Amino acid sequence: MWKGVLKQLVSMKGWDADGANATVEWVAGFLRDRGHGVEVFEQEGHKSLIAGSGKIALVGHLDVVPTDPNSWDGDPFRLTEKGGRLYGSGVIDMKAGCAAFVDAFLEHPDFFRLILTSDEEQGGFNGAAPIARRRDVEFAIIGERTNLRLCTAYNAIVWLRLVSRGRSTHASRPWLGENAIERLFREFLLLKEVVSRVPPEVPVGQPTVNLGVVEGGRRPNIVPDFCEAKVDLRVPPSIDRHRLVKDIREALSIEVEVLLSEPPLNTDRNNPFVRRLASALSKHAPVVGTYIRGSSDARFFSGEGIPVVEFGPTGGNMHAPNEWADRKSIELFVRVLKDFVDEKGEVEFDLTEVL
Ligand SMILES: [Zn+2]
Repeated sequence: MWKGVLKQLVSMKGWDADGANATVEWVAGFLRDRGHGVEVFEQEGHKSLIAGSGKIALVGHLDVVPTDPNSWDGDPFRLTEKGGRLYGSGVIDMKAGCAAFVDAFLEHPDFFRLILTSDEEQGGFNGAAPIARRRDVEFAIIGERTNLRLCTAYNAIVWLRLVSRGRSTHASRPWLGENAIERLFREFLLLKEVVSRVPPEVPVGQPTVNLGVVEGGRRPNIVPDFCEAKVDLRVPPSIDRHRLVKDIREALSIEVEVLLSEPPLNTDRNNPFVRRLASALSKHAPVVGTYIRGSSDARFFSGEGIPVVEFGPTGGNMHAPNEWADRKSIELFVRVLKDFVDEKGEVEFDLTEVL
């Protein structure tokens, strides 16, 4: 039954608040028509729904990023199957996961709690965050694409703003001034040196650094007296990101401001729910643990002390034209969720991949 739901979800354009809210309302109506109580709440204009009383949360988001229909081979808002792949806007990020969750929930409404939000692509602060703060579930599964791998870990995110100040003068006599842009670049190389000294975490490696924004200077013939940069750091779970920022501050002689600091995901793989899910998966596919490079709504649950994994179907071209989901992987995903309900076994696994 997931396929009919997925077809409907793909036909709805959830790339702004109105569209994403309408998608939430559609699912709420669909569940109510089948006799289920549904709570729809709204925060800062973003709607979310919660259905069921179970202690195992199935968490998905119904919002998508905008896409240009002209860059697609077919109609992005019509679910199209070709060679075992289902194509459509938002199909793997993450309407397939949501449709699978609806399917599993309808079969086990006392075991699962279905949580569908509409602001994940904008940070999740008005959907998953307030729901996680209720702390009324024991385990959460985030159905983002993982290619049926079990993801228990991802990197923390830190955004830094670097500000360098200098002294302006005429470019014909630069030695009379102090070039703030050149200074910032020198300091940025120091930052990279600090990061390069961090021991790598296997298999995810060292923290990554991206110099994403640089602003400064007015004209070629003026020595600039101001420059600012924004830097994105992704820090593996075993590394203390606060300590890393402290080390950077100590090494640099310019201002370092923390713009954003979001925790990593680092769920205990020995948690009984995690091992039980691994056991359910082992009956259908090999159990492989993976890191994920990107962040997700999972961090809100882990932040509240709720064990959480990311686990979802296979697909590609996320946030790009011709986004696809593998049909067979969705079928397997639904089966694993349903098996999880009565699963007794516990399977152990390591994190051996990075997705
Ligand atoms: Zn997503």
